Amino acid sequence: MNSMIDFNIPPYTGTEDRYIQEALKNRKLCGDGPFTKRCSRWMEEALSVRHAFLTTSCTHALEMAAVLTGIGEGDEVIMPSYTFVSTANAFVQRGARIVFTDIRPDTMNLDERLLEDAITPRTRVIVPVHYAGVACDMDAILSLARRHGLQVVEDAAQGLTAHYKGRALGTIGDYGCLSFHETKNLTMGEGSALLFQQEEALERAEIVREKGTDRSKFFRGQIDKYTWVDYGSSYLPSELNAAYLWGQFMECAKIQQDRKATWDHYHQAFEALERSGCITRPVIPAYADHNAHMYYIKVADLATRTRFLSYLKDQGVMAVFHYVPLHSSAAGQRFGRFFGEDRYTTRESERLVRLPLYYGIGQENREKVVEAVYSFFT
Ligand SMILES: *Cc1c(COP(=O)(O)O)cnc(C)c1O
Repeated sequence: MNSMIDFNIPPYTGTEDRYIQEALKNRKLCGDGPFTKRCSRWMEEALSVRHAFLTTSCTHALEMAAVLTGIGEGDEVIMPSYTFVSTANAFVQRGARIVFTDIRPDTMNLDERLLEDAITPRTRVIVPVHYAGVACDMDAILSLARRHGLQVVEDAAQGLTAHYKGRALGTIGDYGCLSFHETKNLTMGEGSALLFQQEEALERAEIVREKGTDRSKFFRGQIDKYTWVDYGSSYLPSELNAAYLWGQFMECAKIQQDRKATWDHYHQAFEALERSGCITRPVIPAYADHNAHMYYIKVADLATRTRFLSYLKDQGVMAVFHYVPLHSSAAGQRFGRFFGEDRYTTRESERLVRLPLYYGIGQENREKVVEAVYSFFT
């Protein structure tokens, strides 16, 4: 048996070492040093967003966003059940109740047509999750939110450089949260960014990120000492992590091009398999410009998937399933409820298989993956 094709290998371009050395020489390792600032400016420019704050994880960026929305005890947040636990935890931490809605089977994103009926007088926030870096229908979500006076927090953890009608994911709602975890397109090990356009949110965001103090103002020389002014925590990543990320930003186009090539290879290769009825391929709506974060296929059902995953493993291919719907978990039942009927969330999540996709996977591995998938069905 030949060696295993990993599901993911964290991206490394070779330029990161130099920047980490530079960070070491700067003798500035805590947060908000030169690399953190460079990374923020890069995102503000590349994504056309007024404010981009580097933070320690997307989990933390979501927590910051939850604080900034002002959500509290007994308020409700609408989100898909098919998402990562952090999407919900951030709001649960503020005492909010989670209202889970069903997804669209084509994109695995929350179904915007179900949102209006899920709104109650307690609803404060909607959280679209751009699954696989494929945009949710943001016009529909935003117009509904405006009509009902709700805020929108985008979980764009998987969405860096992906777009909705030309606008970068994470920059469209009131707040957006990216992730630079090592499983995402670009990484700093652990880390993320909080994005927002509103000028009014700036001061509070700085305070929440700096342990509840006005230290950011102090460093800019706007005040002569800093004090505890509000609730906050510590959400600043180290300069070493920011230096690694800077190397990734500098090679962003190259990394993206390689991921796209893999995605396109799979997508084209599996067209015939879809036509024969064995699998379903992902759908990219016309409004979405995706970032090749993930390539998944869907098989007939859970039993088939279990056999399929173990078969692929025997063939040397590490494929994996994804989220167990939150509403069916113990915590999900305690902290939230499912609104309406679970038509697609459970069924579609049980069919989904993610295939190996990482920077530098190489043509040979792409072909091996395709061959292994085909051999299961024929
Ligand atoms: C990865 C991910 C997160 C969490 O990101 P971390 O940076 O690991 O905290 C949150 N939501 C979604 C949809 C994710 O994919």
